Amino acid sequence: MIIILKQGVTPEEKNNIKKTLKQKGFLVKEIVGKEETVLGAVGTSAIDPRSIEVLDGVSSVVPISKPYKLASRELKKEDTIVSVGKVKIGGSRIAVMAGPCAVESEEQIMRIAEKVREAGAVILRGGAFKPRTSPYSFQGLGEEGLKYLRKAGDAFDMPITTEVVSPKDVSMMANYIDMFQIGARNMQNFELLKEVGKTGMPVLLKRGLSATIEEWLMAAEYLMASGTDQVVLCERGIRTFEKATRNTLDCSAIPVVQKLTHLPVIGDPSHATGIRDMVSPMSLALIAGGASGIIVEVHDHPEKALSDGPQSLYPEQFERLMRDIEALAPVVGKAVEKTPRIIPESIKNESATEETRGDDIVAFQGERGAFSELAIRRTFNEDQKVMPCKAFKDVFDAVASGRARYGVIPVENTLGGTIFENLDLLNVEENITVVGEAQLRVIHNLIVNPGVRMEDIKRVYSHPQGLAQCKEFLDEYLPSAAQIPFYDTSGSVKYIKENNLMDAAAIAGSPAAVHYGCEILKQSIETNPKNYTRFYVISREENAEVFRSASKVNRASMTFSVPDKPGALFAVLDILQKHGMNMKKLESRPILGKPWEYSFFVESELNDEHDLSDLVPTLKENTVSFRILGTYTAAH
Ligand code: PEP
Ligand code: MN
Repeated sequence: MIIILKQGVTPEEKNNIKKTLKQKGFLVKEIVGKEETVLGAVGTSAIDPRSIEVLDGVSSVVPISKPYKLASRELKKEDTIVSVGKVKIGGSRIAVMAGPCAVESEEQIMRIAEKVREAGAVILRGGAFKPRTSPYSFQGLGEEGLKYLRKAGDAFDMPITTEVVSPKDVSMMANYIDMFQIGARNMQNFELLKEVGKTGMPVLLKRGLSATIEEWLMAAEYLMASGTDQVVLCERGIRTFEKATRNTLDCSAIPVVQKLTHLPVIGDPSHATGIRDMVSPMSLALIAGGASGIIVEVHDHPEKALSDGPQSLYPEQFERLMRDIEALAPVVGKAVEKTPRIIPESIKNESATEETRGDDIVAFQGERGAFSELAIRRTFNEDQKVMPCKAFKDVFDAVASGRARYGVIPVENTLGGTIFENLDLLNVEENITVVGEAQLRVIHNLIVNPGVRMEDIKRVYSHPQGLAQCKEFLDEYLPSAAQIPFYDTSGSVKYIKENNLMDAAAIAGSPAAVHYGCEILKQSIETNPKNYTRFYVISREENAEVFRSASKVNRASMTFSVPDKPGALFAVLDILQKHGMNMKKLESRPILGKPWEYSFFVESELNDEHDLSDLVPTLKENTVSFRILGTYTAAH
């Protein structure tokens, strides 16, 4: 059952409720949500809920209708984010795990680990205990294999996961690995589940070959009741009458499971299909269906693999797949998980204190729930501390003064064009550099106070861009409602909420609705679904390297002005061309205080062969002023 606590419940009252429940034989879990705190109580004893409802501090008691309790969405509405080392799985991220089916030798796992890491995998897989259909097939290297897997994980900075097949191996394996994998054949090995659950460690729980979704969730419940709340579900194909593929990938299980549980669910296209050529398309199908990631088998010599060679991707295929996933991610409103990510802990470890420097804070422009805040959550962490600022200039000031360590600013929208104000600010703020890029699909929603219906709406508030981008919807469904321009999309949600307007709606992103406790009446009402915004992550120079080192830098932004003579701009572009730098964007901007003089803004690909610093002197010779605004990893 779920015990919903009153707002303002005292710690004493809460402890007393917990104590009473424990005395009655219940296992108690506290879940702190955005809007309310609840206690989940599970156990075998039956009690009259009224005996709990009368306790001080209890608002109400609700039974959980599903047989799985701790795993159920009824108990916890928010997505669980599972941490495996520094990798996060769940919410709005896509985590890719890859590696061979089995660890075959130290050299083999080291080679493949390097390849998959380079392509963008964040967790390394590799079986050491292989539950094979035939007793005569390769059974895995056992503990020796775990040692090699650990070594490869450490060498390439990836947490590792591997299958556990016997309860007696659990404590030994816990010394080597970061996440247990329960294989399909063992999904209902309850003794194994209990032993693994007791470790409290993250677990990847594969769906059994013939398991229903409910049985699968009951297996998760076993793990959770035994002591871990870090469970990732994995759809890996089920047995059906169809023989064309090794198993039948149940893609629809992904959205079904997401409705039923708060736990993240990923997919395994390798075991689902058993056929190399089908792994990439099915990976994309899983991601499109809402999966929080995939686990894929990759081998550099699949023809010689000791197990599952025919379904293992070549490293080049895996690399291509990662690019496709990167392109697909913003379409489903997610970001691909990368390592090492910028974690507040690592930031805090450095010298200055939090109070004076805001070293773990990221600034953005707008009210809470703005698209820029969403971009921060995607780029940093779901629970990243943020600083909302009134104007873009305030974001720059917060970063320059050290009140925030990073800032996230929009630079371009596919429908609205370049946000020149931010380019101009970058131009003048010499201490600030661009260190990263993020891309977000802008999904607009019609947001109202709870209870407001379509026919009640007389006015619609939003940023002028929000109103313009939803014109077709407004014309069709709310033709007589007044459209009122507002300074900010999420600010308009705040406004209808604070004034409790029951005849108005706002247009904004879903985080704003959640943040202000409003309701989404209609989702995704923008006319053009290809609506993306690109953001820059900015920082002071001294903090740039930490961020940049997170992934391969492949883009540079620069600004320059040229002498007033024929071919001056061409000369600069010619230098870029000669160095094989593919230009992605060129803008010209009036120079402040110099009427009719212009500076240029260029974004260019950076390739491995050319060090940008070698190029700068030549560029400076050919320009009046020249500055690199920053180098970073392109998000698109
Ligand atoms: C594996 O991941 O190598 C494996 C054996 O998977 P499953 O348990 O899904 O068959
Ligand atoms: Mn396998």
